[in-house]
Amino acid sequence: MTERILLRAGHVLSMDPDIGELPQGDVLIEDGRIAAVRPEISADAEVLDMTGRIVIPGFVDTHRHTWEASIRNVAPDATLDDYFVDILDTFAPLYTPEDVYAANLAGALECLNAGITTLVDWSHINNTPEHPDAAIRGLKESGIRAQYAYGSANTSLADYWFESKIVIPGDDVRRIRGTYFSSDDGLLTMGLATRGPGFCVNDVVTAEWALARELDIPITVHVAMGRLAGRFGMVRQLNDLGLLGPDTTYVHCCYFHEDEWRMVADSGGTVSIAPQVELQMGHGWPPVMKAIEYGLRPSLSIDVVTTVPGDMFTQIRAAFAAERARVNADCWKANMPVPDTMLTARQMLETATRNGAHVAGLEDRTGSLTPGKRADVVAIDATALNVAPVHDAAAAVTLSADVSNVETVIVDGVIHKRDGRLVADVDRARRLVQESRDRLLAAKEAKGSA
Ligand SMILES: [Zn+2]
Repeated sequence: MTERILLRAGHVLSMDPDIGELPQGDVLIEDGRIAAVRPEISADAEVLDMTGRIVIPGFVDTHRHTWEASIRNVAPDATLDDYFVDILDTFAPLYTPEDVYAANLAGALECLNAGITTLVDWSHINNTPEHPDAAIRGLKESGIRAQYAYGSANTSLADYWFESKIVIPGDDVRRIRGTYFSSDDGLLTMGLATRGPGFCVNDVVTAEWALARELDIPITVHVAMGRLAGRFGMVRQLNDLGLLGPDTTYVHCCYFHEDEWRMVADSGGTVSIAPQVELQMGHGWPPVMKAIEYGLRPSLSIDVVTTVPGDMFTQIRAAFAAERARVNADCWKANMPVPDTMLTARQMLETATRNGAHVAGLEDRTGSLTPGKRADVVAIDATALNVAPVHDAAAAVTLSADVSNVETVIVDGVIHKRDGRLVADVDRARRLVQESRDRLLAAKEAKGSA
């Protein structure tokens, strides 16, 4: 029997250019798939009344180290340099599979609660072969759509992040690909989280890129952030190695040389920008407009909850304000009017949804409310005092709404949040992540006194 859900009479921001915005519209879901988006639909279905709600495609977070949910806010004032020491050299080596499971479960539920329906889990915490299985179990149990990006171990900063000579173990990556991702059509898909030139010697870089291509999985890599990586010229180096391609997502990109932007654009690469982290931790200016100028479709990402909030509204606002602050300051200095090509609030919604799906390689199934795509849908309560009255629905989402307004969350046609409450064992997830925190702090203490 066909299962149908009808979202009735919402203000629909489809993010599909052919459908556009419906001030009053219905969205019909059939067996997990969007069947129709029209002003009025009648169907024998479970009806969710969307009166006073803004209906959007779910947000896509294109880079988050979900394993860090157990150590939320341990590094509130950290710079990127501090982060390497405080997180990658201190906490990461202590992580057990149980910690990764707890953090991935709680972190993925945190995403769903905030309207993030697709997540790229940048999982560089594979200290043993049990770690990837634990990470995947956490994602799977949450019900989120995710790309699990298999990363290196993190048992020592010196071994893994400075001219590293250690390749991500190909046999284990192949095992994970074969065990969990024999099809690329599932709710969970796979990628490879690589470290790249400067962080690794060239042989390692070449081997990791070859591994991803052998297994036909996308590559994600941090580039051009802060003092350190900004000097590496990582994309130039990748270009010299002949490794650039459309299967690669470049994260941060704050200190690209102009020719590196051109190389990324010409090779069909994609871009993930983590604005709050970049502004706060010293990575550099979030280059949203720069990416757009090169014809790229930049996406947004959360990165680390050790230091920034885990929701997309924060990222949208951080990128929007930073971009405009920079342009305003430049124009003031040059005594020129601001250009009319300034970034808009509506562009930010596209960045957080459709562009994210493009970057995660999942635009065929998510990122817009398009008939034929999987049903990843979010409803925002626009009757709340911080959102009403609505004049511009896109601005209401990007500039007024917050996590408390995320009322309904549907992934692949399954309702994960209803009437403002997650349909999940939140108490268990919280307990697990608290136990993980306690275990990690005790291990840190023990190591410190050893
Ligand atoms: Zn990152």
